[in-house]
Amino acid sequence: MRVFRRKNTASQPRNLLRQLGRALDREFGRNTRALRNLLKLCEDETALLAAIKQIQQVREQIEALRGEPDCASSRIRECLSNMTEEVLGSLQAQPQDEHDARQALARCITLLIAASRAVGARSRPQVEVIQRKVIISADLLLQAHFTVLPPERMLVGAGRTTGDESVLHSLFDVTGAHHSSHVRSDPERLARALITMERSRSFLLAWLHSHPGRGAAATFPSAIDFRQHDDWIRDYSENLLSVILTADGHIRFWGKALESGRIEPQVTGRGVARTEDPNVYRIEQ
Ligand SMILES: [Zn+2]
Repeated sequence: MRVFRRKNTASQPRNLLRQLGRALDREFGRNTRALRNLLKLCEDETALLAAIKQIQQVREQIEALRGEPDCASSRIRECLSNMTEEVLGSLQAQPQDEHDARQALARCITLLIAASRAVGARSRPQVEVIQRKVIISADLLLQAHFTVLPPERMLVGAGRTTGDESVLHSLFDVTGAHHSSHVRSDPERLARALITMERSRSFLLAWLHSHPGRGAAATFPSAIDFRQHDDWIRDYSENLLSVILTADGHIRFWGKALESGRIEPQVTGRGVARTEDPNVYRIEQ
């Protein structure tokens, strides 16, 4: 998460905890505003209130941790991991229709994971570095195509940096609720995917979803896609690779990092061929 930018990874773990505390304060402000709106609408606020209380408890634990005389990275990572598990337990216990509470808990988990990665980055600096060349195997694209149909489904891809390349190595289905013309990620599935990536020392490298329609034209991002892409790069990685797939096997790579030349996808293996558009591939029949 950009709240823990690289320049901060060289700073003291205690400073990272201070940043985490401030981020949780902002989260508290956002949730209390949402709570006020619920009260205005006379909707049930119990779940969001409980989520806010839990985030405040996490905030207090962070403050206590920051005050410990020996605030070592290993101790912080262990505590952040325990807090993440606790918040995930609450998220899993929330009914699907408690949208505000689920989102609040999921954002809290994202912050805890981002802080944990930033604390750990000093001992494994290669983790957050996405190299310019991003290797994607045709096997994974075929698997993604199989998984995201029928439209619209959503996946996130985990990557790992090896030498001077980043390699996409696994996919997680995070499909959430369908809205009128697009799909959202499910907060719990996404949180579980991020926790799994953290455990395997990989990172969120790609965001994939499927579109109805046929041909390369159907792979163009919608206005909602562009907005979601901005949210993903704000919350996870500015070098994110975005991917749109269609039922007839067209696959578009897109996103700000690709357009600015910061990343360069490269497909390896058989079964997927490049089309006239250098950013669009097609599964061979
Ligand atoms: Zn879309």
